[in-house]
Amino acid sequence: MKTDTKTSDRSLNNKSDVSPGISGIPAFDDNYIWFIHGLPEKHADQQIIIVDPGDSAPVIQAIEQDKLTPKAIFITHHHGDHTGGVSSLVEKYQLPVYGPANEQIPNITYPLSENQLISFKSMGLSFKIIDVPGHTRGHIAYLGHQTLFIGDTLFAGGCGRLFEGTAEQMHHSLSKLLELDNKTLVYCAHEYTQENLAFAQRVEPANERLLQRIKETTRLREMNLPTIPSTLKLEKQTNPFLRFDIKEVRLAAEKFTQKPLDKPADVFKTIRYWKDTLD
Ligand SMILES: [Zn+2]
Repeated sequence: MKTDTKTSDRSLNNKSDVSPGISGIPAFDDNYIWFIHGLPEKHADQQIIIVDPGDSAPVIQAIEQDKLTPKAIFITHHHGDHTGGVSSLVEKYQLPVYGPANEQIPNITYPLSENQLISFKSMGLSFKIIDVPGHTRGHIAYLGHQTLFIGDTLFAGGCGRLFEGTAEQMHHSLSKLLELDNKTLVYCAHEYTQENLAFAQRVEPANERLLQRIKETTRLREMNLPTIPSTLKLEKQTNPFLRFDIKEVRLAAEKFTQKPLDKPADVFKTIRYWKDTLD
């Protein structure tokens, strides 16, 4: 019996080998700044990578309170609510800053683009870069250990607005995400889930999984709990911005725009435009 317990303990440890601890710091009205912790097996769980620090004050407070050791900063794109805290954190902790090669962001020491790999040996972590332009011109995502840090490209139940890129670019970026493992945990940077799902329901009023997700989300928000991370599987089932290939979504988009839409990219473009008219 004891051996059995040990075996199951070990399999749990193996599990944590592929999923580091992630904690979230709320910032501004609805931002999350994520901390990626090193693997416990490496005795590195006090070491953290800080993702998209739009503000430094709550980050410094959390670091001091939990006696954490920051090792690096990841930036997904140049917007101020993702980068505003970088310079004071660099000054205080002398951190390397990883970010998109195709955007002008002060303090970046490691400019990154598609398929680059970055490793943090002491933490037991490594990540691959995915180019996901659309919300901004050079937006990147970090994928590793079945977790995806996607910034403002994909939201729980929605996607980012097209501030700099085209609908075609964003459609291409989101299509890349559809190829990732269903179990991938999706960490986006904003708590927009309830509003996003209300729109999703307009697009697909008969999607049962969506209705169930709305109930779960309402329950979490009533308790003031985050709705993030979600899984890529859940996004594929309920997020209209990933469902441009689904017949019901195409029909809803055609009804909105009053013309046939033959290409999935045009379905995406129409759904994005439809939501913009309501925001
Ligand atoms: Zn943004």
